[in-house]
Amino acid sequence: MLYDNLAVNEQGHLTVGGLDTVALAEEFGAPLYVLDEDKLRENCRTYVQALRENMPEGSYPLFAGKALCFKGLYLVLNEEGMGADVVSPGEIYTALAGGFPAEKLYFHGNNKTDEDIAYALDSHVGCFIVDNHQELARLDEAAGVRGIRQRVLLRVTPGIDPHTLQAINTGRIDCQFGVPIETGQAARFVADALSRKNLIVEGFHSHIGSQIFEAEPFCDAVDILLDFAQAMRQAHGFVAETLNLGGGFGVRYLESDPVVDIPGNIRALAQHLRQGCAEKDYPVPKVLLEPGRSIVANAGLTLYRVGGIKTIEGYRSYVTVNGGMTDNPRYALYKAPYTVVPASRMNDAREVTCTVAGRCCESGDLIQENIQLPEMQRDDLLAVLTTGAYNFTMASNYNRLCRPALVMVRNGKARLAVRRQTFADLVACDL
Ligand SMILES: *Cc1c(COP(=O)(O)O)cnc(C)c1O
Repeated sequence: MLYDNLAVNEQGHLTVGGLDTVALAEEFGAPLYVLDEDKLRENCRTYVQALRENMPEGSYPLFAGKALCFKGLYLVLNEEGMGADVVSPGEIYTALAGGFPAEKLYFHGNNKTDEDIAYALDSHVGCFIVDNHQELARLDEAAGVRGIRQRVLLRVTPGIDPHTLQAINTGRIDCQFGVPIETGQAARFVADALSRKNLIVEGFHSHIGSQIFEAEPFCDAVDILLDFAQAMRQAHGFVAETLNLGGGFGVRYLESDPVVDIPGNIRALAQHLRQGCAEKDYPVPKVLLEPGRSIVANAGLTLYRVGGIKTIEGYRSYVTVNGGMTDNPRYALYKAPYTVVPASRMNDAREVTCTVAGRCCESGDLIQENIQLPEMQRDDLLAVLTTGAYNFTMASNYNRLCRPALVMVRNGKARLAVRRQTFADLVACDL
């Protein structure tokens, strides 16, 4: 199995965290998001411990809420010693409603409106990750009005393409987030920030990408950031207290994907950082990481009820399920790979090559193509694995489908964390 929290019981049913998925679907309905809280906590601890053991005091991971966001999650994150990234007032609201402390929130976004800035300041979020000059000006002003000195990190782009491993790739400089180092613009951004009397500049932020399996691209980013930090010390006497290296560690969606050694990668990164700082006689900064996917993806799976199988003779067989791009748009968007298993018939031979299709009026509404399954029957249960990240948060009400419930399992027990939408929810905003 892809992860150690998945198994098959004596009835040939898939289990998650020791619970029978067929029973879960009977009790809570389908489609259903299932989140294994034990796995989630284990993933949090891996990051918290690795940062604590290898990086300077005060280093800790921030969970990127865009990967998964609902009230009950924030209780767990807080208990596990995580901070959290938020990118909108809605995410701030959710985190606070879930009891998360505002001072551990880091507010991201490349276009924070005046209302967003006001809301975040009035909510006392710990830190803004400032994206651009206009935001600096408005934030400084809004903080001044409130008599606040706001902590900030400055988002810069080191120009790394993590998938080509090129140290400088102008393609990555060309993006809508942050200010590029390479062009000299980031230096002016720092000068601007340091001149703002209502802002406390704590350091720099960079996010180089996603689904990265090794430490090397992060080490390349550290090299560029340290050169930049050194130049800013020389220019302004400014010493960065914090480096936020963003998110992006990969997860296994398929058996063929590598296993990611997160503690090993963090150790390698720490060693690289300390060495780079020693060479420049630069005080080793605190390190923040912003994992999203690698905290929640493998803690989640989605259960679907099969509607039937339709074979287009001479072409292919479609297995239809009672969800689709409304609960998981990632295949439709960018052909994201997933492992699909016959949750109610795990021991049957998988002899049929088929395409899993959703129920939306859209030919692109596919979950996965050309996978092996047994001859599926109506009412069988299908599980799509590793859906804990970027499924729930990217869901929609297309075709006026109700969003699925989310169930958390822990210590062999399941509890509803987000209820299924009702028809009344669908028209709740319609006047
Ligand atoms: C998307 C994103 C993350 C999380 O990335 P993962 O690949 O889910 O770990 C972290 N930080 C920023 C700024 C992001 O945009």
